[in-house]
This record gives sequence, structure tokens and C-alpha cells, in this order.
Amino acid sequence: MLICSKHKKALIESHIPYRNKQNKHKFFTLNETSIKLGKIIIIPERFFDKFLFIADTSYRLLNEKELLTGVDNLQEFYLKKLQEKGYITKSKRIRMQELKSVFLKSFDSEFLRMINSSFNLGDENTWFHKVLRKPRVTCYPLRHLLLLLFLNEAFPNNSIKDNLENYPFGKGPWPCLNKAANHYKELLITECVVTTDSKTKQPVGTFACSQCHFIYSRRGPDYDDKDIYKIGRVKNFGIVWINKLNELGSNGKYSTRKISLILGVDSKTVKKYLENDKGITKDKLKKIKNERIIKEETAEKHKKDLLILINDNPGFSRTELRKVNPSGYIWLYRNHREWLLKNLPNPKISHKTTAKINWDQRDEEYSFLLIKEAINILTEEPLIRLTKTRIAKRLDLQSRFEKNIDKLPICKSILDDVTEDIEDFQIRRIRLRAEGLRKENFYYSKSTLGRAAGLGKNISRKVNKVLHEELGFLDNAHSN
Ligand SMILES: [Zn+2]
Repeated sequence: MLICSKHKKALIESHIPYRNKQNKHKFFTLNETSIKLGKIIIIPERFFDKFLFIADTSYRLLNEKELLTGVDNLQEFYLKKLQEKGYITKSKRIRMQELKSVFLKSFDSEFLRMINSSFNLGDENTWFHKVLRKPRVTCYPLRHLLLLLFLNEAFPNNSIKDNLENYPFGKGPWPCLNKAANHYKELLITECVVTTDSKTKQPVGTFACSQCHFIYSRRGPDYDDKDIYKIGRVKNFGIVWINKLNELGSNGKYSTRKISLILGVDSKTVKKYLENDKGITKDKLKKIKNERIIKEETAEKHKKDLLILINDNPGFSRTELRKVNPSGYIWLYRNHREWLLKNLPNPKISHKTTAKINWDQRDEEYSFLLIKEAINILTEEPLIRLTKTRIAKRLDLQSRFEKNIDKLPICKSILDDVTEDIEDFQIRRIRLRAEGLRKENFYYSKSTLGRAAGLGKNISRKVNKVLHEELGFLDNAHSN
């Protein structure tokens, strides 16, 4: 550090030696003697600004904590900057040789030597290479400052991460960029919709002015305060812009080029919108007129056809009429339903759906199916509980049983008998597992059997009784 960032003056080097062991970790108060005995550091005039930048930025780095949270992304920041300045190839490599040469040209070699940062164009693995690489190696902070100085950038404001990721377009407000509006460039837009470009994955901000309905978007992130005045694409010009365009266009005094300059778009856009505006009304009117005429003619034709058909076939039902001329019938149904229903013969009541169901017969049929399926379920492994829903579902009779179970008394009583509640199912499991264990000559305790039957900790008295019964079987078997 050679300059005081506060007083913008060269520092004075004190007479106190700091390289010997004794003084290294001591603080010395600044007094008259040390100033008198100290020597002013001579800084060549032409380097003053550079040293001031370094002093300023160092001061900020030491005192503004949030600057450091951005350090992770410094490299990314450098790359973006280098890309803007054309030092990145299409294959995303840094044009290192070119960059080194420009860097060395932009700093006096004496200056670089003064801060121990000089290198030669042909050198590899210099600090300059390191500082641009991924932050595997930490680099002397002064070198970062040098690079920022070279890139003509201040230390990125606030946390870079915060700015670039969470607020790629800053926190607003943003200007309305409608040149036709008298509030052009005024910071009126307070909201920005951020989306991601599907191809480049870069953020895209969309800004809409609520006053003139001018909407524009821009690819981000913003790196510079001035970026907020850039338009990527205009998404909507809005009524103010269109009115201004028409006003300029009908005036007759302005050429297309002149209008395009006033409104901040290219001549093509001006032409397109001027022509469109005139064209729209004429074309649209014509189109609407034509469509209406065609529709009227079509309606006439279909109505006439249908009336003739009804007249010629007095006994025809609606369905029969539709079958003879389906397209006409459907067209009328969609476009002139009221007329159609008024002119059609009265609907005939169909007798098909009221055919009587013989419930007794059904009951008998279903009951056989029920018994068969119950047996299937009870012999299945792994064991499953036999519920009304399950058996009905398997027989595809769910809605039948739900709606008409009272008309099916046999089924109802069978269902009541065979279905299991949780206790019933637990008991079935105990009996089955106990039998299985006995068959294999396993001696089992109450807890073994409980586990085998998949019982939880809480069992009812009834279930507990069954467990004991099954243990009793064991005792009997052994005593026999
Ligand atoms: Zn506006």
C-alpha cells in the first residue's frame, strides 16, 4: 500500500524496521519522530490513479464484508468481462497470448515492478495465469485488483452472487424505453419477470410499462448500471407508440427512416406497422362480411334440406333423420339449435332401457361367483383380508353391490358371512401360521407365533385368547 485512500496522498514509510524478528508482532504508535524520520514514498505522477484504485479497493475489501461473499464468483465475473471484450474464443477458451500482450501494454513495466507483479510475454504459469484459473489456488489479492483495474471494473458491487443469480437485472426500478412516450427513460417499471432462455440458459428479463403498455425484454445478467437502458426485443409497442406512429405517418412530412429514428426502431418495423394498421381494418371488414354471408347461405341450405326431408318422410324419428343427412343435422345442431329442435318431430321414447332385470336370477348367479372368489382370496399367499370392496372389485360388481344389494339377499348374506374385519383376519393368520409351524415341527413361543402371524403389539382379548389356544395345541401335541 503506497497511498492513503482517504487523503489521496502518498504514504510515508516509517523508520521502524519491520523485518526484524523483534518488531514483527508489535504495534508502534504514530508519533512525530517517526514521521520526521520517515521517508515519503515517491510515486510517479503517471501511476497515481492506479495506486489510488488499489488503495480504494483494498479499503473496501477490508471494510465491506459483503464484497467477499462475491469472491467465489470472481472467476465467472472475469470470464464474462473477457467475453464482452472479445478475449474468449467460441470454444470458451481464453485467448491468453493476446490477453497477456494487451495487459503488458496497458501497464507500465515500472509500475508492475513496483508492485512485484511484472512478467514477460513468453512466461507461462505466471500470477496472471493463476488469477484467471479456477480458484484452486488462492492468489495474492493485489493481483485480483490489478486484473480489475485492467478490465476497467470496480470491485463488483455488493455480492456478485446476489446480483447475478438472484437479481440478474438488479432490483429495479427500470426505465420505460418507449421513445414515443413522454416518460421515456423514466424509472417507472417496478417489476421484472425473469425467465431462462431455453437455449443459452441465460436469464431473460421482461419489463412492462403500466402507463403506456410498452413491453420489452432483454437477455441478462446485467453487468453495468447502464445495461438497464438496453432493449433486447420489443414484445409490445402499446397504444401510445402506435398512436405516435400513426400521427407521424399520416403527417406526410416524415420519411420512414426519420420515423424509425424518432421511435427507436428500424425502418422495416415502421413500414410493417404502418401498413398493417391500414390493412387491418379493410381486410378484417371484408373477411368478417364474407364469413357472415357464407354462414347465412349455409344455414338457408341446411334448413331447407331438413324441412324437405321431414316432409317427405313423416314417420321418421330424429335419429333416422340424422342418419340420412348427418353433416347438415350436426351443423344445424351447432349453429341453429333452437330452430332445429322446434322443427324436428317429437322425440320417441325408447323402450330398450326399461327392460326388466330379473333380480332373483342375478342373485343366484352372483352368489356362486361370490363363493368361488371368496375361496380364491382365502387361499391366497401372501395373505390378504377378505373385504366387501375387494371381492366386489375382483368380480367387477362394485356398483351393483353398492346400489342394489337389497335386491340381492343371497349375496348380501354370503358377503356378511365371509368378509373379515381386522380381528377376524388376525385370527385367521394365527391359526394358519400355528398350523404351519406345527407341521414343520417347530416349537414356538407366544411371541414367535405373534411375529409369524404379523401381529402388532396391541391385540384384543379375543385375539389373545386364540393365541393361547394355539399354544395349548402345542402342549397337547408334546404331551401326547
Ligand atoms: Zn411507458
